[in-house]
Formats: sequence, structure tokens, C-alpha cells
Amino acid sequence: MFTYFSSGTSHKQSLMLPQRQFIASPYHCYFNEVIAKNVNYSTLLPLRENTDYLVLGLIMSKILKPDLLVVPSDVYNQDISAYIASQTKVDFIITQPTAAVYFANLLKTVKYPPTNITVLYLSAEPMTNAAHKLIRQLYPNAKILYWYGMTEVCATIGMRSSICNTLENLHPNAYHLNTRDFISEIENNSLVITQLYKTPFPLIRYHTGDKIVIKEVAPCTCAFPNDKIVIVGPRENLRSYKIGSMIFRAEDIESLLVEHCSNILTKDFRLEIESIATNDQLLIDPILYLKPLKETPSLELTQKIIYLLEKDLIVHPRTSLSTMVMAGLSNRLKIKYDFGVQGGTIMPPKELHQYFDKMGKAEA
Ligand SMILES: [Zn+2]
Repeated sequence: MFTYFSSGTSHKQSLMLPQRQFIASPYHCYFNEVIAKNVNYSTLLPLRENTDYLVLGLIMSKILKPDLLVVPSDVYNQDISAYIASQTKVDFIITQPTAAVYFANLLKTVKYPPTNITVLYLSAEPMTNAAHKLIRQLYPNAKILYWYGMTEVCATIGMRSSICNTLENLHPNAYHLNTRDFISEIENNSLVITQLYKTPFPLIRYHTGDKIVIKEVAPCTCAFPNDKIVIVGPRENLRSYKIGSMIFRAEDIESLLVEHCSNILTKDFRLEIESIATNDQLLIDPILYLKPLKETPSLELTQKIIYLLEKDLIVHPRTSLSTMVMAGLSNRLKIKYDFGVQGGTIMPPKELHQYFDKMGKAEA
């Protein structure tokens, strides 16, 4: 028995409770003893449009360094957060990869170069090769930790650092697996985890909805003392995907196709999302394949469909895709027509799912 009730599956956070075990996580000991051994850091800025990162920051300060100063960011205004960072001389940031890239440019505008950042903790969306490259360029002095987890369990399921060359070369989302706090199993190619500690929440077993591969590797370049790793791929049902500070949901796209285009298109679609880096910004590049009822719509009509979908597709709480395009976080939506499209699927960047595609072929 396990539950599908998780923030990754329902897109709503179910629970956030600091766990004692989170504090004792083997990764944090490892971070202190190996990765950040000779790194100076004193001031932490939890940066996200979400106050739980402040809680996370406070937990982190306890885990890593009792005298670490935690500075709250302005959750609604990143410009103010950058000003706060410059005034308090922040050197440690917890955030999402996309936000880290965006924030580096804001730091430059307040004349507090991102070279001052010595530690970066990144989570909450998949890593891509474009994100890796850009983050390393923008924060050349930072030791970077990427972690894979879920809100409800409050311990990292997997973690990797910027010194893990072996894992980085293997896959953008390969992590050292936390075998101490969880039992990890695979059901239909997806991860089911069982927490091995008591929580006030009665649920202990979760289906994460992520397709994964667990394997053993030879010792990593970072010398992490565990040979099990987890590679995280697409969502099991390909009906939703979180990337670039946005969430795409198949049901939202279907209802817009029915609302705006039912006389010319079916509601079948395939959305392909790529992550690209241009001019120190990280943005997503969405291509939507649609199925015409009879004839392929004209260029003019296609422009109109693009306009309507961008305007009405909500990809962030109360924010449409068109706003993300204007903010420079997404390219404009491209539409292509394909009579062979069936159902509604959302494909993550190719680099993240091709590893799993090859695996499927090998099984067949
Ligand atoms: Zn490693």
C-alpha cells in the first residue's frame, strides 16, 4: 500500500514539518566534512516565492552551522531580495536552479557580484545541462548542492554536489541515494519510498510519480560513502511537468483546446519542453504538437491560437505563460501540427528522458 498524495502529484503541498532526521541526514554531515570543509560562509538567504524556504533556511542553519545568520528574502520582490543580499553580504543561497540564474543577474545590478556566493543549495525542479553550465558560470566560487526530494518527507531522497563529476557525466538528474532514511522501491518504473522514521503524519509510504532508475556505481569522484545512485527521469504518466519555475498540466491544456479551438482541433496534444541558456538567462522552449480535425490551420489562425493559449495557460500560481514570456523565462510557444498525436502528454527535455527511452527499447 502506498499513497499518491504528494505535492509532486497533486501540485499542492501536503505537509511541511521539520524532522529531527532531516537534521541528521548523512548528506549534511558529508557536506560539512567534505564539500564545505574549507569554505567560508556566514549568511544564508532562502530565496523562493514561498515562505517554506525560510523554514528550510532556519533548519539548515541548525544543521550546518549554529551561528549561520538567516536573512529573509522578499517573497514578492526579487529586486528587494537582491538589495537585502547586498546589504547583509549574503554568501549562501537556497533556491531553485531557475531562480538562482535570474537572481545572479539581479545581484549584478545591485553591484554585489555573484562571485561572493560560496554555497548554493538547489532543488525543487529538474536540473538540465543548460542550467548546470549557466549556474557554474554565474557562481564560479560556489560549492553547489543539488538535491532531489519531496516536501512531505523532509529528508533528501538523493543529493549531488558540484564535485560529483561521475554523476554529472552520467545524467543531469543523477543523485547519490539516501539509503539510511528510506527504503526505495520501483513500481512500474516509478519510485515508491517508505520513510524509516516516525512523523506526526500517519502516511509513511509514497508513490512519487517519478520514473527512476536505481543502480550501483563505482566510487564517485566526490568519494561519497554509498555506491547506490538514483537517476530521475520524466513523470510516470507524462501528464504534468515542473520546470523553469513553471508547472505544465495536461488537463489545463486540454480544457483550453476545447474552449478555444474545438471547431478546428481535437484536444489531443504533445507538449515538448526544452531548457536553453541564452545571454546569462535560463529559459524554456515549449513546442506544442496539435491535431487538426480536418485541415491544417492557416498561419494567421495559428498565431491566434498561440496568443490565446499563452494568455490563458496558467503555469505558476496566478501567472500565465504570456507573463513568463514577457519576464524572459520562456520562449514564445511554437505550434506544429501532427495528425498522429494521441492523448495529452507533456515531455520533459530530451536529455532527461532519452536515457529512459533507450531503457524501454532495450526491454522491448
Ligand atoms: Zn558524488
